[in-house]
Amino acid sequence: MTDATASGPVRVGERSLLGKLEGSVSWILLGLVGLLLPLLDDSYIGVIAQRAYIYWILSAGLNLVVGYAGQIAIGWVSMLTLGAYTTAALTAGTATDPWHPYLALIAGGVIGAAAGVIVGLPALRLRTFYFAMTTLGFATIVTQVALAWKSVTGGGVGTPGPVFPWPFDPGWGFYYFCFILAALATWMTANIASSRFGRALVAIRDAEVAAEASGIAKPRLLIAVFLFAGALGGVAGGLFASLQSYITPDAFTFEISVLFFIAILIGGRGSILGPALGTIILTALPEFAAPLVQWSTFLYAALLLVIVLVIPGGIADLLDYKNRRPLEQHREIVPRPDLLGRVLGGDGRSRGKSTIALRDIELHFGGVRAIDGLDLEVRSGEVHGLIGPNGSGKTTTLNVISGYYRPNAGQMTLDGAELPFALPHARAGYRISRTFQTPRLVGAASVLENVMIGGTVHGHGTFTESILALPRHRRDERHLKAAALQALATVGLESLAQVRADRLQHSELRFIEIARALMLKPAFLLLDEPAAGLSAEEIRRLGNLIKASSREGVGVLLVEHHADLIFDICDRVTVLNLGKTLAAGTPNEIRSHREVVSAYLGA
Ligand code: ADP
Ligand code: MG
Repeated sequence: MTDATASGPVRVGERSLLGKLEGSVSWILLGLVGLLLPLLDDSYIGVIAQRAYIYWILSAGLNLVVGYAGQIAIGWVSMLTLGAYTTAALTAGTATDPWHPYLALIAGGVIGAAAGVIVGLPALRLRTFYFAMTTLGFATIVTQVALAWKSVTGGGVGTPGPVFPWPFDPGWGFYYFCFILAALATWMTANIASSRFGRALVAIRDAEVAAEASGIAKPRLLIAVFLFAGALGGVAGGLFASLQSYITPDAFTFEISVLFFIAILIGGRGSILGPALGTIILTALPEFAAPLVQWSTFLYAALLLVIVLVIPGGIADLLDYKNRRPLEQHREIVPRPDLLGRVLGGDGRSRGKSTIALRDIELHFGGVRAIDGLDLEVRSGEVHGLIGPNGSGKTTTLNVISGYYRPNAGQMTLDGAELPFALPHARAGYRISRTFQTPRLVGAASVLENVMIGGTVHGHGTFTESILALPRHRRDERHLKAAALQALATVGLESLAQVRADRLQHSELRFIEIARALMLKPAFLLLDEPAAGLSAEEIRRLGNLIKASSREGVGVLLVEHHADLIFDICDRVTVLNLGKTLAAGTPNEIRSHREVVSAYLGA
């Protein structure tokens, strides 16, 4: 990312200092309450608060797994168990020489991190319920081991928890220890959530193919998140053991695991504040309604049902008053093709010519020959139209180029070098970007965040740098945001930058997808029916935008049904029928091609 793009004329959508303060007010209030709570000098409330902090330290990490990445990790209590026993056993010296409690707590975090990765690995292959079952299975195994490994864990009799010495000794010292760690966990997860990694997680959750097309490698990212969430769970476990002062395997019930999970759901997926409030509520609720304790599981379930039915977006949705403000009714999309140069890096013409070539591609789905011996060339600086009746293989061709399918036969090259098949997330590295026949956006994220997802691969900071909000992370965020605003201005939607994507009209979604695709600074742009659902005027503007991007040196492959658009802006056209080329040539040749006219254009 160059500074040229970061310092554009677009200044819309940036939040003022006041706006930022407004977003932090809830946190400042929560922090003040936590900081001043000891003034009450009520040790009972202190213990409840400590429990809430400890649960939140675990849930903060789990929130990235469940709320952001959408993985149903329902048995995450296993991290609490592992962290608790590691810290307790090391401090007590049942397996080794006794460790210092603070060191033992760190060890609890390390074990939690390792376990997080082990539990998380199946998520890369298994879907939803199967993954949920493996996390539950793991939790059961951990409890069983704790029961059986008597020499270290004390078995069913249990083992004393660690006692942390000064400055965080039992009482309010320990209270502040939990408070500080909870604040730290909040800060770190919030940093991740607002980084390119957090946006990538949400993209994996809600628009996985679009995430891949943006170059997001799911396995690496998920493993980093599982590791981090495991570490937080392990640390929470060590604190939990100290709070309980004595732990037995039956302290780590299925109910606690459900509490963590439900707190996140009622808090709202993709929020930090919501799940934090959810955790506090679920921890405190049974305490203040003592007769209800034995009903706690029932209460959680009832609460969850109510939330799912009444406010599916959870507490976070209730707090998100900004997105309840009505949008302007008659909105117009006015793209500014003149900004394309900046968005694409300004060196369009100097980039040199480049060609994607398909030779004799065949792709069968069972008995269906979706592509049946196709030759196609997409060259930089040209718009190549791909037309044909429904089911003729247009989308499939696009999917082959963008790496989703491995053809049964044929070759695909970029400037003579093989383009690897079946590696969709690698396409971003070749600067091949695309849109989808049905727009694939993250409805729950803002328009700006959606567009920023497209620039994920241009970030330089690591996951760890983002956790700690180090300079490279902040620079990435600044640049990605500026570039995304620039891309939004180019497609004419910068005024909607802060709006949730699921509130927009269909035509706007199409242009947002284009803005996201532009974020890659693509050498090739594959568009799958971008004009579908657009008004005549919008189609004309879209055409200008596409034509302008080809003039900037981008090679465009345009799948379209609107013949007018195709003949207006294409340099070459290929007509498909039943996976075969029916005709190929300039728009004029195609327009007068007898077979095409009779079979497809029907004029
Ligand atoms: P188009 O985009 O030109 O309308 P497609 O490329 O989507 O057509 O589809 C071409 C043919 O391949 C159709 O007959 C379709 O049913 C079939 N097809 C596409 N994707 C799949 C799939 N994943 N599995 C099985 N058949 C498919
Ligand atoms: Mg299609």
